[in-house]
Amino acid sequence: MKLPPFASQVFINGKWRRPASGQYLPIENPSNGEVIGKIAASDESDVDAAVASARNALNGEWGKMAAADRGRLLSQIGLAVADQVDSLAEIEAMDVGKPLTQARADAVALARYLEFYGGCADKFHGETIPYLNDYTVYTLREPHGVTGHIIPWNYPMQIIGRSVVAALATGNAAVLKPAEDACLTALMFAQIAADAGLPAGALNVVPGSGALAGSALSAHDGVNHISFTGSTEVGVAVQAAAAKHIAPVTLELGGKSPQLVFDDADLDAALPFLLRAGVQNAGQTCSAGSRVLVQRGVYQQVVGMLAEKFNQLRVGPAIDDLDLGPLISSRQKGKVLQFIEHGKRSGLSVAAEGTILEGAPADGHYVAPILFADVAPDHDLAQQEVFGPVVVVIPFDTEEQAVKIANGASYGLVAGVWTRDGARQMRLARSIKAGQVFINNYGAGGGVELPFGGVGRSGHGREKGFEALYGFTTLKTVAAFHGKG
Ligand code: NAP
Ligand code: MG
Repeated sequence: MKLPPFASQVFINGKWRRPASGQYLPIENPSNGEVIGKIAASDESDVDAAVASARNALNGEWGKMAAADRGRLLSQIGLAVADQVDSLAEIEAMDVGKPLTQARADAVALARYLEFYGGCADKFHGETIPYLNDYTVYTLREPHGVTGHIIPWNYPMQIIGRSVVAALATGNAAVLKPAEDACLTALMFAQIAADAGLPAGALNVVPGSGALAGSALSAHDGVNHISFTGSTEVGVAVQAAAAKHIAPVTLELGGKSPQLVFDDADLDAALPFLLRAGVQNAGQTCSAGSRVLVQRGVYQQVVGMLAEKFNQLRVGPAIDDLDLGPLISSRQKGKVLQFIEHGKRSGLSVAAEGTILEGAPADGHYVAPILFADVAPDHDLAQQEVFGPVVVVIPFDTEEQAVKIANGASYGLVAGVWTRDGARQMRLARSIKAGQVFINNYGAGGGVELPFGGVGRSGHGREKGFEALYGFTTLKTVAAFHGKG
């Protein structure tokens, strides 16, 4: 598979250029550990240029574009992305290690975000406010200006869709810092958007490390809003840097999302969701349903059903399109294996383990998915985000106890509730601390229409859905005195 010709460049003001430093970082294929090229290591001066280019765009053609034209353009970019789903998926599979089907789903989701936010651009507006009779008061929804987007490697295309595309729909000009392990589809998206007519400077991409490019972007006083998706630790640093110039920040951070299975649940319906929520994208999903809480009456049955499925899971190169691909890097593999070791050494019972394909390249970052049963709610594996294919099952007796366990982790991103009892569904939807609660389904990452985000250590602010448009705009109140006439 050939890399795009601009793979090692930065994208500023509608043009490809070399990084100012002349420095590069390797592109690795996680399925076999091979270095297949290099990306630009952008630094402070590239970020400066990107922010200046975004500012120019706001003062130029992009800033002057009518909302309907902006929306139409985004929809057209969506069609262009849809045309290139296969090549985007192939590149993503190679760069990030996603099984092809999952990479393809991400590309399809990006096209859908463009369709959705393209449609929103001219339907989002302020209000009139009744005030004194000799006044007319109304609100304007205005773009922040230059928005910075720092994103992780796990779902690059989907996160570009929900973050960058929503920012563009509301008239911001964006600077995107993709994760150094997953830059290629971000660069391809920039080219597709430019080819479809996105004015120069509306979107700039500065690949490179978090330490250099990411911190330069979050500390830049020309950036008016930061959308950060990634780990809680880095989120704290980004928010602190942005605080120095009072830039608002949206933080989409980690999770330890619970799925609550009650005695009266439809277990056959729940099973595929329980499984997928845990191991989709090899568990490298912020909203992975990695804590399965099961009521005592069906506990053994659910563990048995899940274990049978887990034992059948197969792991291998992205191109083989099995259930799971490799993890993103040897570092991530090391982290996940340490968690698994810790679980085993502390005496947790291994209910099931998947299989790594025989002959999978030795230098690929493969980890067999593992299911731990009978885990105490305060065990490290039930509290900390593993970000790998590790699922823990925790028994409970009463609804009250289930809620306490569900709310007993410091994160609060997503939760799943499996019960046929309608009143219980409503009670739990209220009492569980999370940004999303799914009842008798679970959508890790799914649904562009559904507002998404966290509470607690999972972050703040909402992306996705119409709600995201509020986050990417600021409100101006206009109070006009005109007398009684
Ligand atoms: P990460 O290490 O926090 O990295 C996220 C992004 O921040 C990357 O682009 C990274 O750059 C950059 N970065 C690193 N240090 C930085 C700094 N000092 N200043 C500014 N930017 C910096 O997270 P990750 O390991 O890539 O992703 C996994 C985490 O993301 C998990 O915790 C997961 O739950 C979370 N996540 C959350 C959501 C959500 O929607 N809530 C979605 C996906 C992932 P480099 O990688 O290039 O160094
Ligand atoms: Mg890579």
